Amino acid sequence: MNLDLVLRDLAVPGGITPAAITQTPDFIFLYGVDGSRTGVDPSLPLVELASRVQDWAVEDLWARRLPTNWPPCPRHPGTHPLTVAAHGERVVWQCPVGAEEIAEVGSLPISG
Ligand SMILES: [Zn+2]
Repeated sequence: MNLDLVLRDLAVPGGITPAAITQTPDFIFLYGVDGSRTGVDPSLPLVELASRVQDWAVEDLWARRLPTNWPPCPRHPGTHPLTVAAHGERVVWQCPVGAEEIAEVGSLPISG
């Protein structure tokens, strides 16, 4: 499932694990530390899923008082997060400065 690729990226260092994940026939809900939840339609295109999960992660990292630049840009640590982009069939995380491709969604480097 596409959402699994994004959740896999979310679990690398600098990311977070949702407090809980629940599923209904139409939505998967990600729960934050503050008890809030965000519904994601798993049938969305991967680029949309990655963007929704990124929005959720930024809010949850903020609630945890952690740096909100997820996923962190390895070229510019401590500044901006990577942005998701679709390049034809491929969906990638890229640096917003110069659009350098860092990794495909689902294969963020484990260390960086
Ligand atoms: Zn960058």
